[in-house]
Amino acid sequence: MMRRNRAYAGLDRFRLLAAFLVIAIHISPLETINGTGDFILTRIIGRTAVPFFFMTSGFFLEKDVLDPAGKRKEFVKKLLMLYGISILLYLPLNVYMGYFRETLLLPVLLKDLLFNGTLYHLWYFPAAVIGAILSGVLIRRFGYRKAFLAAAGLYAAGFLGDSYFGIAQRVPVLRLFYENLFAVSDYTRNGIFYAPVFFVMGGWIAAEGPKAGQKQTASCLAGFLAGMALMTAEGLLLRNSGIMRHDSMYLFLLPVMYFLFGLLLKIRGPRQSWARDASMIMYIVHPALIVAVRAAVKLFSFPSALVTQPLLLYAAVAVLSLGTGLFCHVLKTRIRRRQRGRNRKQCLRRRAQTGLRAWKELDRENLRHNVRVLERAMPPGCSLMAVVKAEAYGCGGAQAARCMMQAGVRTFAVAALDEGIQLRKQEVRGEILVLGYTHPDRAGELRRYDLTQTVCDYEHARALNAGGRTLKVHLAVDTGMHRLGIGLQEADRAEEILGMKHLRVTGIFTHLSAADSEVPEDRAFTEEQIRRFSLFLDELFRRGISLPAVHIQSSYGFLNYPAEGCSYVRAGILLCGADSSDRIYKARKLDLRPVLSLRAKVASVRTIGPGESVGYNRTYQAESRRRIAVVTIGYGDGYPRSLSGAGTVLIRGRRVPVIGRICMDQLMVDVSAVPETEPGDTATLIGRDGREEIRAEEVAGEAETIVNELFSRLGRRLRQVWV
Ligand SMILES: *Cc1c(COP(=O)(O)O)cnc(C)c1O
Repeated sequence: MMRRNRAYAGLDRFRLLAAFLVIAIHISPLETINGTGDFILTRIIGRTAVPFFFMTSGFFLEKDVLDPAGKRKEFVKKLLMLYGISILLYLPLNVYMGYFRETLLLPVLLKDLLFNGTLYHLWYFPAAVIGAILSGVLIRRFGYRKAFLAAAGLYAAGFLGDSYFGIAQRVPVLRLFYENLFAVSDYTRNGIFYAPVFFVMGGWIAAEGPKAGQKQTASCLAGFLAGMALMTAEGLLLRNSGIMRHDSMYLFLLPVMYFLFGLLLKIRGPRQSWARDASMIMYIVHPALIVAVRAAVKLFSFPSALVTQPLLLYAAVAVLSLGTGLFCHVLKTRIRRRQRGRNRKQCLRRRAQTGLRAWKELDRENLRHNVRVLERAMPPGCSLMAVVKAEAYGCGGAQAARCMMQAGVRTFAVAALDEGIQLRKQEVRGEILVLGYTHPDRAGELRRYDLTQTVCDYEHARALNAGGRTLKVHLAVDTGMHRLGIGLQEADRAEEILGMKHLRVTGIFTHLSAADSEVPEDRAFTEEQIRRFSLFLDELFRRGISLPAVHIQSSYGFLNYPAEGCSYVRAGILLCGADSSDRIYKARKLDLRPVLSLRAKVASVRTIGPGESVGYNRTYQAESRRRIAVVTIGYGDGYPRSLSGAGTVLIRGRRVPVIGRICMDQLMVDVSAVPETEPGDTATLIGRDGREEIRAEEVAGEAETIVNELFSRLGRRLRQVWV
């Protein structure tokens, strides 16, 4: 609670006032009442609004920021997004005003995008972008003091082309300079001459809390009032002297802003995020609302006083803008709240993580989603056989199977008898097909656990049949992979197997050996496999055998080849929401989501000097002072040792490199770029953390293997956390 009350409520509140001032600038509400009064309100007092926005941005770009460059980048990205949206919002108005009939469209467009804004008030966005970047460069390069002097110099050049233009005009060199300048930017009130000084001032105050931050409220107030009086005098004098070209840059604006900002910083209290959201929206939409009010007067016979009396127009637009701003704020909070619902999951995640060393995080929702997506993509009559061998490719074994059971999956496949037994013991019902070899001696267990066995070849069939107890089997057919199955020439033997007394053949299938390849020879081979299998089935059919369930496709067979009349798709890796690798050929892309994340903890953080080495065999040697974190996972947990010096880990949402040899139980990362890293932080080896994500495909590629291997080798020592 204490902390909340220390937020910058003064800045938040003034944002709203600044937004109202900006609207006033564009309407001149007092124009018909008192010209001078209007000038003072809109051209002098109002001129604090935009510099205030710049200063506030500059302030928060430097205040307690660990990564100023990254923060600035994010800020610029956000501005560009808002700028883009605003441009689109006003495009109809541009069209209406004949913007695109301009003869020199391209140069005009360029100069508007960079400086003027495509509509008059939108200049703010490019100015803020350029101002933020330029001020950042100046500060990083020269420090605050020199950056301020440089930016103030630019500002001086700015006001000579603005409210002091009459003076510049008398000096031929300056005149020439500004003539050229104005060919590119309509005003000096832009990102180069106007914005930087305010960004730097805001940043300087944030970084050093210099005088304005520390001074007493009374002296700030005195400074502000004196500055305001001087600026008013300056403005009126300039106006009367007739030397103004434009009226946004004054000499005394700098001290006024300095004291005003100091004053506002004194007002602390709870955050007013509504004022923040609303002021930005108000800034963007008010010109549209001016147009709307005017149109309403014209089209719907609204009282014409709304247009003829600027004060009324101002009131209407101010209220509408505020309303729109608040509406958008409410909308945003709603969306945020919904996201927070999703964040509940994150909470669960966090709670589950306390005390864990290294773990797999498995996402139920994504697994169910993948089941739904795959099933929806299958032709009618075909159903999903979920391949859950090797602990469901490391993605949770029986628990994954049960989760899919709840999502309606009725058929599963495993590689080995023991895997099937494990599933049964953990209450997985439905069909379970054992895809690999089972010794005939264990036929009793096949029966006891109601498992379906693959017939690997003719001998296997005979041995299974000889046990004397009826077994459910699927007959494998070798169409070219040459792994399991009876040969294509063995139709007689197939017929014999299908007639064996103790074998109930409920399915017949083949496996494609190159379905994930785009190479023409591989594609031809795969098509040939499918064709041969189909001919084989025809042959059996001709012999009067009624065919059981037929299946051909595994994950990539399904994505890349049509196979009509199949009862099942045997999908494994796709259920995990991953691809075997990034080099896989996929004719169809489905919206599948990753199920598995791999995480561990930071155990310890230390600094090493240049020349020191890290880990076994000293394969890594620091070239400079480095911050090193030890992470609680190693090759003993299945994280490939081949990623030594090559892997990447996420800590606090940022990518950091694995350095030195990966040990059996630990590995080391260089966290110099994330200096706030501390013991207990979560390290993500696969999966998402904040905005960053390390995809399984990426890790597998780096380790020169496929995701299937990477996942299925994840160790038993890892805990499984379902979220
Ligand atoms: C493993 C396996 C599958 C599943 O393959 P994915 O490419 O992971 O979908 C299907 N069929 C057989 C015979 C398998 O051995």
